[in-house]
Amino acid sequence: MKMPVLFIGHGSPMNAIADNEFTQSLRACGQSLPRPRAVLVISAHWETPGTQILSSKQPPKINDFYGFPPDLSDLVYAPPGSPELAAATQALLPGSRLSEAWGIDHGAWAVLCHLFPAADVPVFQLSLNRHLSTAQHYALGQALRPLREQGVLILGSGNICHNLRQIKLDSPPLPWNIAFDTAIANAVRAKQYLDVINYADKFLLLASQALPSEEHFLPLLYAIGASRADDQLTMIYEGYELAAISLRSMIWQ
Ligand code: ZN
Repeated sequence: MKMPVLFIGHGSPMNAIADNEFTQSLRACGQSLPRPRAVLVISAHWETPGTQILSSKQPPKINDFYGFPPDLSDLVYAPPGSPELAAATQALLPGSRLSEAWGIDHGAWAVLCHLFPAADVPVFQLSLNRHLSTAQHYALGQALRPLREQGVLILGSGNICHNLRQIKLDSPPLPWNIAFDTAIANAVRAKQYLDVINYADKFLLLASQALPSEEHFLPLLYAIGASRADDQLTMIYEGYELAAISLRSMIWQ
C-alpha cells in the first residue's frame, strides 16, 4: 500500500500544546491516515553540511527553542526510531550518511504529537543539506518516493511563509503572507513545480518578504518531490498565525 506524503506548516512550537483549528485539523488528519511502518520527517530545524539520516533506535526528543514555557520541554513524545528504514533511505540517497547526532526536533514532535498522539509509530529524520540548491532538494524528494511503497509516510515540516522579524501577536496576516502562500498553493495545485523550485526568481519581492531564509520552505520541496502524478492533493489546513507565518498544510495520497 502506498503511504501518503504530508507537508505541515508547523508554525509556533506552542501549537504542540494548543487546541485550535489548526491542531484539530492535524488530529483529524492523523485519525484518517493508514498506519505507517514509520514516519520520515524532513524538518526545517535540522540543517547539516551534508545529507544525514537519523538512525537511532530510541532518538531523544530535542527541545530546540528558547523562551517558551516549560510545558513544551516537559511534553513527552518518545516514539522508537527505525535504524532499518534509515538504512533503506540511505541506500536511496548516494552520498548521504547515517547519524545518531540528532533526535526528534520540534519541527517533528510538535506535529507528530497531534498526528500520532500515542507515539507508537517509529520516527526518523532526514536533514537539510545546507549546500544544496532548491532543485537538488527537490531531486532528493523524488529519490525518496520508493519508500512510500515500503510503508514509510514522508512528512515535510516547515512553513510556506516564515518571517520571524515581522511576527505580531493578535494581528491578521500581512498582505504578502496571503499573496505568497496563495501563489505557492496555486503552483502546487497546478503541478507547476518549477515555479515552486525557482520561487525566489519567480516571486522576487514577495518571496524575500515571506522567506528571509529558506529552511522552512525546503521541506515542501521534499514533499512535492515525493508526490506522484496520480496522487490526489488535499489541503488539510489553510490559515495563518502571528501575521507573518502561513500554516498551510497538505496531503498527497
Ligand atoms: Zn519552525
